[in-house]
Amino acid sequence: MSETYRNLVGGEWVAAASGQTFESRNPADRRELVGRFAAGGAEDARAAVAAAAKAFPAWRAMAPGKRAQVLNKAAAYLEQNAAQFACELTQEMGKPLALAQDEIARTAQTLRFYAVEGQTYSGETFPCDDPDMVVYTQREPLGVVAVIAPWNFPASIPARKIAPALITGNTVVFKPSSDAPLTGLRLAEALVAGGLPPGVLNFVTGRASEIGAALTGAPEVKAVTFTGSTAAGEQIHRSVAMTTRTQMELGGKNPLIVMEDADLDAAADLAVKGGLSLTGQACTGTSRVLVMQPVREAFLAKLLARVQALKIGNGLEPGIDLGPLATAKQFETVLSYIEIGKTEGKLLCGGRALTGPAHEHGWFVEPAVFTDVSPQARIAQEEIFGPVLAVITVDSYQQAIAIANDTPYGLSAAIATRNPRYVHEFCRDIQSGTVKVNRTTTGNLTNAPFGGYKASTGSGFRESGRVGLEFFTQTKTVYRAV
Ligand code: NAP
Repeated sequence: MSETYRNLVGGEWVAAASGQTFESRNPADRRELVGRFAAGGAEDARAAVAAAAKAFPAWRAMAPGKRAQVLNKAAAYLEQNAAQFACELTQEMGKPLALAQDEIARTAQTLRFYAVEGQTYSGETFPCDDPDMVVYTQREPLGVVAVIAPWNFPASIPARKIAPALITGNTVVFKPSSDAPLTGLRLAEALVAGGLPPGVLNFVTGRASEIGAALTGAPEVKAVTFTGSTAAGEQIHRSVAMTTRTQMELGGKNPLIVMEDADLDAAADLAVKGGLSLTGQACTGTSRVLVMQPVREAFLAKLLARVQALKIGNGLEPGIDLGPLATAKQFETVLSYIEIGKTEGKLLCGGRALTGPAHEHGWFVEPAVFTDVSPQARIAQEEIFGPVLAVITVDSYQQAIAIANDTPYGLSAAIATRNPRYVHEFCRDIQSGTVKVNRTTTGNLTNAPFGGYKASTGSGFRESGRVGLEFFTQTKTVYRAV
């Protein structure tokens, strides 16, 4: 590793206009340089947007079947290189290798899914009283789309934006997270290997503070699809022109409700897998556990045993359950919330930064479980994005659902119960874009819609599934006399 990587603009791999680079390092071992990347700025963003605008007419005119071929070939390229790309993914953001392998496979699956769906995505025809007229809608691409992605799923999240954008005839400028640029670059490389014409996908790295406004504010950019923090989403939303369409996949504070009739072993597994895998750095990760008083002690004993058995370390080593936090900023934020938690609840276990030979060069933190947390405590209200579980004790379903709904967020929520009445009421009452019954708050299918309620989303446009194509097209209604 430790190569210097370039941006992709108009089909050419180019250095940043400034000639500057920035480094990406392995969060499990900061001594290891993953690579140097172009420190792009406004000039680079403008060049990428201009290249995408230039490529748009020809790409839009290309038959959807040909566009689909590119996605299918790119998927094959990812699969052929999956072993290398998964390793790099682990090295740049820390998730255990098995999860990185899943993500690369999922990314290829997403490209293939949209290669098929995009070819049958069309308008409707409408009955009309005039026998000499046909009325129908056609779906048309928007133009240049800016894709802005986070570091936690650096391949699969941009893929579920880029694939539907491309298959519907848009051209793209893709800005990956500055904390995981290499995997994004591999995705761009796969699409080039798939035969994408120059300028159809442009890839620019650089800090958001340097590149963000020039990209999202460019007049040729007709849509911005963003996944990241609610704060950054709000900033982008406020800064773009009224005519720029936005899609925002934002933060979460996802609850798991454990009812008195739940299978407590299964419920403890849901809390650990949903809350702590990916070291708590999943937007849909469980961060609040609402447990019914009568089963509280039994549930906590099972939870504690599972949390204490987790193996924390470098995700490339076998048997590792949790990797490091992905960045220095994450590490500091998580530790500061753990300190806040100590003043707000009772620390059941964990919460220390790990030192010692296996951990001293990485951003490792023991998962922390807090009990006796008030629903209004900061650790129960604010997104921490780390391995911190806030356990809240409740006395009734009504109290649980009221607390579950009482945060600004609404991304994912789960219930552990065997009672069909609770299941029915939960699916009806919860204010959340994804609802899970006896399953983790994390995880979603490529072919099903994904998105949040409340502050977990912006415009409400969904990603994933067939409905994920909607954001990238506009509808034209045609009245055609015959
Ligand atoms: P982030 O700090 O908001 O950054 C996300 C991306 O946006 C990065 O590429 C970042 O660039 C860029 N960015 C930030 N501010 C920008 C601006 N003003 N203009 C243009 N680009 C801007 O989020 P993160 O730390 O990478 O990811 C964690 C967050 O993502 C969490 O809040 C999590 O809940 C959320 N998330 C949501 C979903 C979902 O589907 N709802 C999925 C995954 C993650 P730089 O890296 O250069 O700063």
